[in-house]
Amino acid sequence: MINTVLCYLEKDGKYLMLHRTKKEGDINRDKWIGVGGKLEEGESPEQCLVREVYEETGYQLVSWSFRGLITFVYGDITEQMYLFSSTDFFGEEKICDEGDLEWVPKEDILNLPIWEGDRIFLRRLRDHSPFFSLALHYDRDERLTKRILHEESDKDYLTFRKLNTIPWLVNAFSTRRGGVSEGRYARMNLSFTVGDDPDRVFSNFRIIGEKIGVRTEDMVLAHQTHTTNVMPVGKAHRGMGIVKDRSFCDIDAIMTAESGLCLVTSHADCAPLYFADPVNHAIALAHSGWKGTAGNICKNTVDGMQNNYGTDPKDLIAVIGPAIGAECYEIGPEVADIFRSSYSRSECEAILRPKDKGKYDLDLPGANFINMINCGILPENIEVSDICTCCCHDWMHSHRGSGGKRGGMAAFLMIR
Ligand SMILES: [Zn+2]
Repeated sequence: MINTVLCYLEKDGKYLMLHRTKKEGDINRDKWIGVGGKLEEGESPEQCLVREVYEETGYQLVSWSFRGLITFVYGDITEQMYLFSSTDFFGEEKICDEGDLEWVPKEDILNLPIWEGDRIFLRRLRDHSPFFSLALHYDRDERLTKRILHEESDKDYLTFRKLNTIPWLVNAFSTRRGGVSEGRYARMNLSFTVGDDPDRVFSNFRIIGEKIGVRTEDMVLAHQTHTTNVMPVGKAHRGMGIVKDRSFCDIDAIMTAESGLCLVTSHADCAPLYFADPVNHAIALAHSGWKGTAGNICKNTVDGMQNNYGTDPKDLIAVIGPAIGAECYEIGPEVADIFRSSYSRSECEAILRPKDKGKYDLDLPGANFINMINCGILPENIEVSDICTCCCHDWMHSHRGSGGKRGGMAAFLMIR
């Protein structure tokens, strides 16, 4: 195992990046990364950090933050990397003998030739995420094959930073943690349709409801059948799908402008899409698997909010929650053809990654991101979770990750 440190120095909205051009046989050759290097015998990560930053840049670090632990696996090599950032340093910048140093505006970093997995932790640095541990596996073609993400949290459910900034919202996404179900459903199963004891599922809804501050009688659960149908819901729908029967069917997205009514959708690989309109106080939640994505349930939802609540897409805050990642989502040629008929050629290049025998890996969150942008939602208003449910099936329910033997998670969104 190799131990390394990597540091992103930040000044005036820019990161100091090293374009690695000078070292023969460098695995990072021609890539852009932060500064850092290998731990020497007897060195702590922090000692290594201060030494490497000084040797490569001439800057003396005064303070720094330990942001995450990254485990890289490529071939038979495993590298444990301590990730730091710093805004507090002094000294004269010098010429680096491993490449060219350049201050790059934060918003341009993701457009540089960088490792696919680096995008994941750079987004987390940029978004001031809490401490995290991330494992990134690459194959010999430098393709990401696995990404296991764990974030430091004292909760057994997730919330989203962009939605947390809106004080009148409740937002949550469940994990496998905190419920009373057993076996393949353990512990927090929020699906009534996967064979688990319904009393336990109901208890789980009550438990998570207490934690997020929502009564089960105030929840309304969509009736998901992989449609692109959207429906406005109100007080009359309270409790439907949880404590009483629904008056509707085949609805994969629900929306409301009423307070005290919690929208709920079910997930286990398919993307949850959250929408909040802070101007008109309206919200929507959608379930977007490959059918919903190719059929653009995102657009139907945004159109529905426009028609019902006067929403301007430019005002929308949106989240693409945990979903199956490109590295885990193989699709056949028929499904790829459907995506080719709904996305442009350049969009398909970004979301369909060719494999053997006419198969592809589909980037489901990426395809939903494109749908959101094409609806007029601003990129800076979209949060992408980066958690792959399949890679993280130890703490997330995943249909693919479990071979279909699984429980389900739920997305929650409510106006207080
Ligand atoms: Zn994955």
